[in-house]
Amino acid sequence: MAIKEFDVFVIGTGSSGKKIAFDCAADGMKVAIADNREFGGTCANRGCDPKKVLAGVTEIYQAAKNLEGKGFLDIPKIDWESLQKYKQTFTGAVPAANEKRLVKAGITLYHQSPKFLDENTLSVEGKTVKAKRIVIATGLTPLVLKIPGREHLKVSDDFLNLETLPKEITFIGGGYIGMELAHIAARCGAKVTVIQSGDQILKGFDKDLTDQLAEISKELGIHILFGARVNKVEKLQKNYRVFYETEGDVKSIVTEMVFNSAGRVPSIDDLDLENGNVDIEKRGVSVNEYLQNTGNPNVYACGDVAASVYPPLTPTANLEAKILSENIRKGNKLKLPNIVIPSVVHCIPQLAMVGLSESDIVGKSEHYQVNYEEVPHWFSAKHKNEVDYSYKVIIDKKKQTIVGAHILASNAGELINMFTLAINQQLTISELKNMVFAYPTWGNDIKGML
Ligand SMILES: Cc1cc2nc3c(=O)[nH]c(=O)nc-3n(C[C@H](O)[C@H](O)[C@H](O)COP(=O)(O)OP(=O)(O)OC[C@H]3O[C@@H](n4cnc5c(N)ncnc54)[C@H](O)[C@@H]3O)c2cc1C
Repeated sequence: MAIKEFDVFVIGTGSSGKKIAFDCAADGMKVAIADNREFGGTCANRGCDPKKVLAGVTEIYQAAKNLEGKGFLDIPKIDWESLQKYKQTFTGAVPAANEKRLVKAGITLYHQSPKFLDENTLSVEGKTVKAKRIVIATGLTPLVLKIPGREHLKVSDDFLNLETLPKEITFIGGGYIGMELAHIAARCGAKVTVIQSGDQILKGFDKDLTDQLAEISKELGIHILFGARVNKVEKLQKNYRVFYETEGDVKSIVTEMVFNSAGRVPSIDDLDLENGNVDIEKRGVSVNEYLQNTGNPNVYACGDVAASVYPPLTPTANLEAKILSENIRKGNKLKLPNIVIPSVVHCIPQLAMVGLSESDIVGKSEHYQVNYEEVPHWFSAKHKNEVDYSYKVIIDKKKQTIVGAHILASNAGELINMFTLAINQQLTISELKNMVFAYPTWGNDIKGML
């Protein structure tokens, strides 16, 4: 049988892979795309979107709870089953709709992981195919914990699809996925434990604010075990026993379901990348400033799987795809822009950050002004009886520009976008202070933080 040849072969149908396939097909290129799971990727099927649908209901629940006796007589009860059905209305149609759009664009689909045979040749669905350019956009996959009993561990995909919510849940890992799901589960009525190896949840975020969020989580009923390293999971008759080491002792807890939220790693194991001379590193597929692989110039990578300078998030996957798609179609011209990228943890309250942290300015703190305050008395929080609102803003003293912002507030995700704009556009403090914003709004609070 003749070997099929393509201009571009994309591996992965998530936010980044899809965009490249559509762009190249629209430019008249012969394009194929492969995925070994449901089409449409992590964000829409089993990531940001379904998570936010579940979190959204808990936000409304919490808002009502804050105002109990202050306008609300009864606090609404969350019904997990109907919430799951509602979530399904967002996710259910995603794979088929994606396949339909890709086929309509003239793109050839494969439903398996391709394997590299050489620098331009792949084996997929038992066929050999060649492509001038191969794009790796396979994202991340949960880190496999090398502990006895790891086969009993569930992952975030399982949580987002739970038909009934267990009474007791344990998360191994207090990163953003573990903490977000822990908050959803706790507000939906589960007894939640988070086991965290270090002394901080949400490493990478501001320690003062993560400590505050840890306290808030405890008040919500989430039991956080710090400095605890899980080393075994045992199946009991109905439940599981999770063993962990802490301060030299081995302790254990019994729980109904255990989730591995200990991190995510590049999804590259099935690709036989060594056959294609594709360079990799711990963070994923090695790329240069054009998102081209450093070992095989026919290979490009973007999104979570690319070891680029950006954090693994949907907006960065989209931005990288835009740049990579141009470079493939028009030759290497575009580089990743040097911009700050915001990150948001969708707990309640939300924790958001952008730009530099206090840890980045150690040893040069005299050049910066750090404004740190707890402001639950400000009207935007107070009128909804929200008791947690803190910010930390880092200002370059000489340039009088913002270089970092960290916010803990119910609306931190929206506020951080304003800071992202200010930092990337290098707006000065006086320009921001002279801006007229609407009142009463959260955005207007920014002026008080400067
Ligand atoms: C629970 C959860 C919540 C999240 N919440 C947020 C959030 O709130 N905000 C945010 O910005 N980001 C969030 N993310 C991260 C976000 O989903 C990713 O950054 C984004 O999906 C990355 O897009 P991508 O195109 O790089 O990869 P993906 O969307 O992961 O797509 C990769 C695709 O490649 C496929 N694939 C993998 N290996 C192979 C293979 N060997 N062969 C063929 N196909 C393969 C996968 O099946 C997948 O469809 C969340 C992630 C998770 C897991």
